[in-house]
Amino acid sequence: MKNSARILSGAQIAEAVKREVAEEIKILDYRLGLTVVRVGEDAASAVYVGNKVKTSAELGIRSEHIHLPAKTSQAELLRVVDELNARADVDGILVQLPLPKQIDENFVLERLNPEKDVDGFHPVNVGRLSQGQTALAPCTPAGVIEILKRSGIEIAGKHAVIIGRSNIVGKPMAMLLLQENATVTICHSRTVNLTEITSQADILVAAIGRPGFVRGEHIKTGATVVDVGINNVSDADFARELFDETELEKRLATIEKRGSTLVGDVNPKEAKMKAANFTPVPGGVGLLTVAMLMKNTVQAAKMRRKTD
Ligand code: NAD
Repeated sequence: MKNSARILSGAQIAEAVKREVAEEIKILDYRLGLTVVRVGEDAASAVYVGNKVKTSAELGIRSEHIHLPAKTSQAELLRVVDELNARADVDGILVQLPLPKQIDENFVLERLNPEKDVDGFHPVNVGRLSQGQTALAPCTPAGVIEILKRSGIEIAGKHAVIIGRSNIVGKPMAMLLLQENATVTICHSRTVNLTEITSQADILVAAIGRPGFVRGEHIKTGATVVDVGINNVSDADFARELFDETELEKRLATIEKRGSTLVGDVNPKEAKMKAANFTPVPGGVGLLTVAMLMKNTVQAAKMRRKTD
C-alpha cells in the first residue's frame, strides 16, 4: 500500500480567513469589541484565551480579557455576563470553558445575549443552526467546513460520518455538514459496529478525545479524514505506532524535550495510507478555530448593529 494522502494544512486557510476578516473590519465605521471571560487557572484555557486576544489585536478588533478568580460564584459570573450583554461596545462575548465546579455551564451560556454569542453555544443559535437559519455557528466545526470547501472537497451528496456527539464539535458538525447537503451519520461511544459505519464514509470527522483511535480499518480507501482531536502522547513506543519515518524522529525529540507531543484522534501513519485527504495535528483544524471566532465576531457585530 502506498502512502498517498494529500495533507490539508490549516495554516494557509486560516491565514486566508483572517485576511478576509481584516479586510471586512477595515471598512466598518465602528470599532469591533470582543470580550473573553476566563474563570480560574486552567492552564490550557490561559493559552487559548491568549491566542484569541492576540489574534483580535492583529485583525484590529478591540479585545478585553476579564479574568475572574477560581472561587467566583455563579451569581457573580452572571452579573459580569449581564453587564457585557448591556454594553453597546461589546459585539462578542466568549466565556471560556471549562468553568469551575460551582458554576453550571449551561446556565451561564443561556444568559448570554444570543446576538453576542460568538462561540455559538447558546440554545437559540443551536436551534437556528439546526433549522438552517443564519446563526453564529461553533468555531471548530465551522473551521472544518472552511477546510473542506477551500480544499475543493465536495460535500453535497457525500456520506459524512462523525465520531463524537458533543455539543461543541460532534453535533454542530453534523448540522453544518447537513446544511452542505451531505448524508450524515453520527457515531459515539455506544455505537455498535463502528468500523462498519466509518469505513463507508467519504468524509470521516474524528472528534473523540482519544489519541490515534481511528485506524486504517476505520477508513474507506480514498476518503477525506478530518482529525479534530487534540491529545498529548508521552509514550515513545506509542509514538512509533502513530508516526511514519517522515516525522517520527521529530516527534520523539519533542517527547524527549517537552515530555509529550500533540496527537489527534486519528493514527496518522495509517490514515496517510488509506485516505486521499487528511488534516494533520497540529497544523490542521486547530488553526481554524480562532480564525472562525474572528469571523463570528464580525458577523455578530453586523447582525446586531443593523438592528440597533
Ligand atoms: P467530548 O469528550 O465532549 O466528546 C467525545 C465524544 O467522543 C463523545 O460524544 C463520545 O460519545 C465519543 N466517543 C468516546 N469514546 C468513543 C468510542 N470508543 N467510540 C466512538 N465514540 C466515542 O469531546 P469534544 O469536546 O467533542 O472534543 C473531542 C476532541 O476534539 C478532543 O480531543 C478535543 O481536545 C478536541 N477539540 C479540538 C478543538 C480544536 O480547536 N481543534 C476544539 C474542541 C475540541
